[in-house]
Amino acid sequence: MTKPLHPETLAAKAGYDRDRETGAVVPPIHLSTTYARDDAYQLIGGRDYTRDKNPTVLSAERLLCELEGGAAALVNASGMTAATSVFRAWLRPGDHAVVPRVGYFAIRNWLQKFSADWNVELDFVDTTDLAAVAAALRPTTKLVWVETPANLTWDVTDIAAVADLAHRAGARLAVDSTCATPVHTKPLELGADLVMHAATKYLNGHSDVLAGALVTRVRDEAWAELEYIRHVEGACLGPVEAWLLQRGMRTLFARVERQSKSALSLAQRLTERGVTVDYPGLPHHPHHAVAVKQMRGGFGGMLSIRVAQPIELVKKLRVWMPATSLGGVESLIEHRHTAEGAGSPTPFELLRLSVGLEHEDDLFDDLASALS
Ligand SMILES: *Cc1c(COP(=O)(O)O)cnc(C)c1O
Repeated sequence: MTKPLHPETLAAKAGYDRDRETGAVVPPIHLSTTYARDDAYQLIGGRDYTRDKNPTVLSAERLLCELEGGAAALVNASGMTAATSVFRAWLRPGDHAVVPRVGYFAIRNWLQKFSADWNVELDFVDTTDLAAVAAALRPTTKLVWVETPANLTWDVTDIAAVADLAHRAGARLAVDSTCATPVHTKPLELGADLVMHAATKYLNGHSDVLAGALVTRVRDEAWAELEYIRHVEGACLGPVEAWLLQRGMRTLFARVERQSKSALSLAQRLTERGVTVDYPGLPHHPHHAVAVKQMRGGFGGMLSIRVAQPIELVKKLRVWMPATSLGGVESLIEHRHTAEGAGSPTPFELLRLSVGLEHEDDLFDDLASALS
């Protein structure tokens, strides 16, 4: 028996061997939208039309499956469409879902409108509090949605424990694992039914592709609903974007391991300077113990700091770029209170940091001199 390959190897190889005809070591981009039949009028490899069958897109999906240890994957036109399709596919009027009180702003906002428009009942719960999750579950609960680590305080939810609670209540568990990445956490192995990624972020990793992804533990009826939604609504990923995403995933481990290492060091050095830091790798973070249990090889590249004059601080920076989004090779800093606009629940003092691949000392020195 041959030994199974490590995820690092699977990522680097991206399921690709040399092209048998040309010897090319890089996979092609299949731009064709339609696929001809053979001389016997049979589809070639079952392919007819690009929406579900584009070979470049399928190749990115296969790699995602391998990285998450899933049975099937779908890539989508954005992380938002990946996320919203789950709620739209799995919930009907009168159903109930448990959703996180702390989490990605645009999803939380959309959920409020979705709930009102479609008479779906939602409980916004602190999913790190298992008793609160248990108390929120009802006979009509169909879905528990968790984001971990979660924007903006990087709360870490115990996936295995919540999966157990959800399953005993007859509900499915879906995890937005955008900030953990398969490098640090494998939600499906911990019992989640579905993993969602804003592939725009770490999976692609270069701030040049908008994409979402869903990976399922098993191919079942619920998965077929998600396939159906993408098939009929067509929020597909184009082949060029899928190719770029796959290229990005080939360096996922090297990037994320380095980003997490720098983030931990920055979190420690900023704490030593007296700055208030939210980072699950710090022993004083409220979910540090769960993070240690659940996250392998690091705690991710995202942290938040609290400073008295956040906007003044950002204006003084030379290395960090003042921009939204996260997970790219360039370090970004954002004042979320400004980005979220009127009624933002985010404390004014908070800055969100996405640690890139610059030298850790340059990142620290930039912040330290702006702080002094
Ligand atoms: C960015 C993000 C999303 C949304 O993804 P898009 O690709 O921007 O639509 C969802 N969840 C998290 C945690 C994100 O960071």
